[in-house]
Amino acid sequence: MLLQLTILVVGTLAVAVYVSRWLPPTSAPERSPRAANVPQQKPREPRPHSDSISPKKPPAVSTAEAESVQPPQEIPPSDNVETVPTPPPLRVTSKEVEVGSPSEKLVALTFDAGSSAQPVPAILQALAQHGVRSTFFLTGQWIERHPHAARQIAEAGHELGNHSWSHPPFTSLTDEQIREQLRRTEEIAQRVCGRSTKPLFRPPFGDRDERVRSIVAEEGYLTIYWTIDSWDSVKRDITPQEIIARVMRRMRPGAIVLMHCGSEATAQALPQLLQALEAQGYRAVTVSELLRSDGQAPQAASSLRASQGN
Ligand SMILES: [Zn+2]
Repeated sequence: MLLQLTILVVGTLAVAVYVSRWLPPTSAPERSPRAANVPQQKPREPRPHSDSISPKKPPAVSTAEAESVQPPQEIPPSDNVETVPTPPPLRVTSKEVEVGSPSEKLVALTFDAGSSAQPVPAILQALAQHGVRSTFFLTGQWIERHPHAARQIAEAGHELGNHSWSHPPFTSLTDEQIREQLRRTEEIAQRVCGRSTKPLFRPPFGDRDERVRSIVAEEGYLTIYWTIDSWDSVKRDITPQEIIARVMRRMRPGAIVLMHCGSEATAQALPQLLQALEAQGYRAVTVSELLRSDGQAPQAASSLRASQGN
């Protein structure tokens, strides 16, 4: 009995060892090694955000995914590929940017538009008073609902970016749906504002992954994430003072700041925020100017000159 049992156990083990040699190794979680290699972990901003009043719950975005620095081999071939930077803290890949070069005290204030347009005149006035041009990421539906505001933004000389057609989380869409979201918005921006949204794309809710970035890149867009979330769409009833304090505490050269066209608090915070930036020697510029200022701008960024025509 004991002998039979021993033979059974040994036999089972032998079979298990044999089989395991022919099986592929258990795949490790793709992101953890890469995330572990990221040299500078910084405290992450809370992911959830929407355009102030959007009721949709944003999908969870893995911190590891957001932190991961793409390996250089993923950069598509281009004639200036050798200039693509890899050193931290410049988080630039050919498909996504979340901060500009730290070499100059430049900052890009960006405004996402998907809900209200009411604060837009005050936002435009504050920017004009300080001679600042910014980047506005508009949804196609927002342009459709607020053509006058969209035109005002463009006519004031601000830069336009694509924020999708209807603000869905992009990782839940099919490839074709992603393309459709981008194309419809580009079409209405051209028709209403006489301007292209290329090559700047801001993912709704910041929700994106490698597939999204790749399709977006195929459509001619660079994904623009952010360095500092003003929280103007995250924290209910945030005050202008809280926005200013939050943004200025995190300010650093090359920062891309996420703000929203639908936020009254942002509109009220802007004059003082712009003053505070000036007092600290910062110059607020558009996203494309921020990327251009970096001599090592990636291909998609350097193509801004041609496509934005300024
Ligand atoms: Zn948005």
